[in-house]
Amino acid sequence: VARLTPTGFLPFALPDYGEGEIAEVVDTLRSGWTTTGPKARAFETNFAAFLGAPVEALAVNSATAGLHLALEALGVGPGDEVITTTFTFTATAEVVRYLGADPVLVDVDPTTLCLDIGEVARRITPRTKVILPVHYGGRSADITALLELARPRGIAVVEDAAHALPSTHRGRHVGTHGTDATVFSFYANKTLSTGEGGMIVTPRADIADRCRTMRLHGINYDSFARYLSSTPAWRYEIVAPGFKYNLTDIAAALGLHQLRRVEEMRIRRETISAQYDSAFADLPCTLPPRAEPGDVHAWHLYALQIAEDAPISRDVFIEKMFEHGIGCSVHYIPLHRHKYWRDTYGLLPEQFPNAERVFRGIVSLPIFSRMSDGNAARVISTVRELLQGA
Ligand SMILES: *Cc1c(COP(=O)(O)O)cnc(C)c1O
Repeated sequence: VARLTPTGFLPFALPDYGEGEIAEVVDTLRSGWTTTGPKARAFETNFAAFLGAPVEALAVNSATAGLHLALEALGVGPGDEVITTTFTFTATAEVVRYLGADPVLVDVDPTTLCLDIGEVARRITPRTKVILPVHYGGRSADITALLELARPRGIAVVEDAAHALPSTHRGRHVGTHGTDATVFSFYANKTLSTGEGGMIVTPRADIADRCRTMRLHGINYDSFARYLSSTPAWRYEIVAPGFKYNLTDIAAALGLHQLRRVEEMRIRRETISAQYDSAFADLPCTLPPRAEPGDVHAWHLYALQIAEDAPISRDVFIEKMFEHGIGCSVHYIPLHRHKYWRDTYGLLPEQFPNAERVFRGIVSLPIFSRMSDGNAARVISTVRELLQGA
């Protein structure tokens, strides 16, 4: 396993694979079963058990695929509206367009960087089919308030939990609050990584059944079930024009082992975030939103907001960090600023004053569980030097 030296280039994120993950993948390769099979099944079972609620977990090859499947299973289609945040990755909203429906982008609450609940309430129309919150950075959105808004109106709630493993809301894991579906991402830079991958979690059997069928070509039962059957089983039936969204056992092998380490990896991220918080408290910047008291923050991102009166701008800060061998990123260029979303829906910056203000200063610093204390110390001293203007 490659070592990160304190002085080499420090990327903003890296996956954390140890010998356990490597052995699990090798075991899969030797087994001869590399596509969706026993490891994907075990990953699903263990994932649901980890969340600790009566939910079904369905492994897919990305969170984008999972969000697409969840919305498809809810019957989202042309004419429907899905309310979501402008302060997210385009995947959150693009899946709505896959189905011919329209995302309604709303502004964020500047203290949580998650959906502004009042703004969501104001944007509900008879066409609203789904509310789609994002747990920004791993700080859970107010699922309770969103459910209170959605349920009496017959609106579904689907959570984009790409950042939120293992986050809690009101003491329970994200994914266990009775929303229609929750989708996690296992992309390379997420808190649990399978290279590419995702998990749909739902308490609803009808949604689980539809997603299971649609993730593999619309086949009424999957090829592994046929492979396992004791009689020759070559018959299958196509019941819908499905997709190719299944997770391979090679990826699931990584996930199985990563899942055992979720808490250990979370603690490492939490430690780094606490070191950053205390080191940056006196600088001209806003620290990332914390979790509600008693709740767990997954710390997928550590995103500072550089103040307008800081000695350098965000853009120059990123350049200087790079010159010092430290990678940063920006989460996010709000969707309403991107050509496609802006032009398709005629969006103006004035409609999103909070996201605009946050975007001007925001920068994601390196945070991942393989970072050493030396790496974190180097980030701290460089950020301090740049923001103190010394
Ligand atoms: C990473 C991410 C996604 C997409 O996840 P993939 O697994 O890469 O498809 C969706 N939404 C948010 C907020 C993300 O950060």
